[in-house]
Amino acid sequence: MQSTENAVYVVGHRNPDTDSVCSAIAYAQLKNRLGAANVRPARAGEINAETAFVLQHFGVPVPELLTDAAGLELVLVDHNETGQALPHIDRAHVLEIWEHHRLGDLHLPEPIVIHCEPVGATATLIGEQFFVHDVVPDRAMAGILLASILSDTVGFRSPTTSEKDHVVAARLQPLAGIDIDGFAGELRRIRTAGVEHAGAADLIRQDFKAFRIGGLQMGIAQVEVANAAALAHRKPEVLREMRALRDALGLSEVVLMVTDLGAEGSDLWVTGDRRDVIEKAFGPVTDDAVYVPGCMSRKKQVVPRLEEALAGAEPEHSS
Ligand code: MN
Ligand code: MN
Repeated sequence: MQSTENAVYVVGHRNPDTDSVCSAIAYAQLKNRLGAANVRPARAGEINAETAFVLQHFGVPVPELLTDAAGLELVLVDHNETGQALPHIDRAHVLEIWEHHRLGDLHLPEPIVIHCEPVGATATLIGEQFFVHDVVPDRAMAGILLASILSDTVGFRSPTTSEKDHVVAARLQPLAGIDIDGFAGELRRIRTAGVEHAGAADLIRQDFKAFRIGGLQMGIAQVEVANAAALAHRKPEVLREMRALRDALGLSEVVLMVTDLGAEGSDLWVTGDRRDVIEKAFGPVTDDAVYVPGCMSRKKQVVPRLEEALAGAEPEHSS
């Protein structure tokens, strides 16, 4: 056994999703199989119901929980922004980054491996690395990587889906031994089932990410529903919780994407003092919400439009 001092942890973002947890597990295993026995998977928060199902289905243990990055040697997967990383990420030694989001604000004092590619899931890049190194993933690794691709791309329906996601998934499928459509449907059922019964605080926080956009700190959360009616009756309660979170974190705006997997669009529920920015990006806000047809991706369709809306705009003085 290696001592903890020599350990390198592979870890995803806070409020982890299936891609963050499973990409960390699989990349640590690839490193192990390539001879680096000291690399271990970790997670930066409690796992969600979908991830719990995926790990249990393939018999993979829940990785170790990290709560502070100070002094650790880390490989980051599925994130590269301070606001989404473990606390004190500035005091960690980041060795590598494997990513499919925009480049963030991490200060990296020396050259490191950064692989950032606009594919549908970090798991696609990790799966590709197995094949690049001629390491055949076992059933469990193939399974959790494939599940992560299906999760992040919403069964290949998200506009973030790339050709490479299909190619890597097709190579993983026979190794994982699952039916892709059936498994994607099961994941979707689990993701949407929890929503109606979840507490308002959990709804906001489970998939919450903080962004620095055009000089503003914004929080953007996402929940997925099977149809628009699923969450409508919870709106006043959820908006109250969003305001509380905005105050607690000192954010300009908190946006909740209520993504309708049936209609393939998102109702954006908004709270904050920069409604002008929201309206410039997405159109008129009515009853604290604006519906955006075809919008399913935070990284590809929401963050860039907010960036654009804020580009060149003078900061407003709110009274
Ligand atoms: Mn993620
Ligand atoms: Mn991801």
